[in-house]
Amino acid sequence: MSGNIFSGFAVFGGLVSASAALLLASCDRPPAGDDGRLYVVTTTTMVTDLVAEIAGDKVRLEGLMGPGVDPHLYEPVPSDGIALREADLIFYNGLFLEGQMTKSLEAKGSKSHAVGDSVSEAQLKGEAPHPDPHIWGDASLWAQAVPGVVDALAAADPENAAYYRERGGAVAVRMAELHEWAKGRAAEVPEAARILVTSHDAFEYFGEAYGFKVVGLQGISTVGEVGIAERVKLVDFIEQHGVKAIFVESSVSPAAIESIAEDAGVGVGGELFSDAMGQPGEFESAGGERYDLGTYTGMIKHNINTVVDALK
Ligand SMILES: [Zn+2]
Repeated sequence: MSGNIFSGFAVFGGLVSASAALLLASCDRPPAGDDGRLYVVTTTTMVTDLVAEIAGDKVRLEGLMGPGVDPHLYEPVPSDGIALREADLIFYNGLFLEGQMTKSLEAKGSKSHAVGDSVSEAQLKGEAPHPDPHIWGDASLWAQAVPGVVDALAAADPENAAYYRERGGAVAVRMAELHEWAKGRAAEVPEAARILVTSHDAFEYFGEAYGFKVVGLQGISTVGEVGIAERVKLVDFIEQHGVKAIFVESSVSPAAIESIAEDAGVGVGGELFSDAMGQPGEFESAGGERYDLGTYTGMIKHNINTVVDALK
């Protein structure tokens, strides 16, 4: 799975001489996959990226959900259960984003951390008991998850605590810069045109942070079918408000939004990364910048650039 950011342990790579490899092979080695580093398991690509940025190469990191995977609908496979059991630490989004996995994630006790817990209740959207889990849409909210990840890593691996703290500080600075950049770009769209129509309500935090009114065809989860009445209502809304373009999401089937765009006579403004990032190593250039779509920064930059360019 491509979410597996630090999958390789390069000792047996081409850089090691044949005799050294033989020597290593004959020594007592730790069990397969156990290289002495902390084994950290994560769920969504956003959480995986957050932990990777902070933990660097000090942990063995395994992300269970890859690009394009819808966490609301994700059904755990047997190897996920093994990973969660063997993990030294688990980080997940929480706020019920990982629908079917929530129970098993919560059941792992003190080694299991929901990054969503770092956001204060007053800042959460949605109605209890169903908070809106899409907190990564606002880079300033997502940055609130950094200290909790740093603390959990430092507690589990005190030897590298200073390393995690330093990298966590740098990540927080980068997220603050990203947040300011996003606000600046969003301001290029005239206020009346700042309407973001997408497949499901994944962009409420994004919209509040960057000044867009958000209209999702489906609610905060992708579970369930969309009825004719909702489609007609959305077509009417698009026509009434003179919306120029609407958007499909990378982790949700585009069919419904495409047919609504056709009925309303508007274009599809592009594909947004809602609940999963893009493919690592797939770069995009915009505004004189180049960014990796398989990173959190690339995800936010792509989403802002796509929305702003289609609506302004
Ligand atoms: Zn979602």
